[in-house]
Amino acid sequence: MSVSATDISIKKVENSRLSQVDFSNIQFGKIYSDHMLICNYEDGQWKQPEIMPFHNLTLSPATTFFHYGQAIFEGIKAYKGPDGEPLIFRPRDNWRRFNKSAVRMAMPEIPEDIFIEGLKALIKLDENWIPATEDTALYIRPFMVATDEFIGVKTAEKFSFMIITSPAGPYYSKPVSIYVQDQYVRAFPGGIGFTKAAGNYGMSMYPTQEIKKMGYDQILWTDGFEHKYVQEIGTMNVFFVIGDTVITPDIKHDTILAGVTRDSVLALLREKGMKVEERTLSIDEIADAYKAGELKEAFGTGTAASIAPIASLTYHDVTMQLPPVETWETANYLKKTLANIRYGRVADTHNWVVKA
Ligand code: PMP
Repeated sequence: MSVSATDISIKKVENSRLSQVDFSNIQFGKIYSDHMLICNYEDGQWKQPEIMPFHNLTLSPATTFFHYGQAIFEGIKAYKGPDGEPLIFRPRDNWRRFNKSAVRMAMPEIPEDIFIEGLKALIKLDENWIPATEDTALYIRPFMVATDEFIGVKTAEKFSFMIITSPAGPYYSKPVSIYVQDQYVRAFPGGIGFTKAAGNYGMSMYPTQEIKKMGYDQILWTDGFEHKYVQEIGTMNVFFVIGDTVITPDIKHDTILAGVTRDSVLALLREKGMKVEERTLSIDEIADAYKAGELKEAFGTGTAASIAPIASLTYHDVTMQLPPVETWETANYLKKTLANIRYGRVADTHNWVVKA
């Protein structure tokens, strides 16, 4: 089925909630824009996408995703351009990744038209919900859940794809302190680490709660066998500047989410002519570099946080304290360059920005 923007039925709110929002103080993921998109899958087909007022859902308690977790999601941002127009950052990359998650979770792939045209129509309609100040954006959450009303364990046949959006401010207000996890495991070869399946996040809650009690912000996950090769952080990929080389774990195996920000960062670094390596990287190598004074910068990359500098890394009883962030050339260059592209302040030579 090919869906064009004109196939999307649109029912608008009677009264917008926009005037109730305090845009000078927006927290991440607390308020939702006036409209949402829903598109159902039944009888082997996607039905007509509908944009309607944001509302609560009514579901049978036997709905399968409550029980067996066939649930996937994405995270995208739309920024306000120089003339107030919505600029969406690399949504087609998220659409491709969404379909990779769908395949692995035995869910139907969603056609590009429904995902992209639906997204554009929704953002256009709620464009006044995009905050305008630096470091703010409209966070876009596409997701899909299995909706069969059946509690037998089997692949579902009915699914709901939805998109909701939420004005968002900065994710972290200061550099993050990281705990290197070598007891609990996030992902292993053959698993679902490369997907944005809900279960990947559900499993991380307990270990994250534990390290938060100890005063850390996030976990840096290590591999499932030797517990020494670094993978990624909570909801971010991770980069280290060691000497004059920028190193990030490779995504050859299926354990690490292929971040859109990660890919953008790699492209920007290579264009700048910097030395970049995607490879296995052990915590011992990082600790040795730290001891030798060669660990210059460490940062996470992700849609929510953009570039999140790491203040410290704790591994067993050793805490590696990184130099003050103001001195970091690479992370600061990336943050500024990405912002300029996302807010439409410079020419989009990569074709990363999609207008709504
Ligand atoms: N890893 C994980 C586990 C994540 O949830 C995210 C956020 N989507 C990322 C990395 C970063 O991905 P992206 O740059 O596409 O937001």
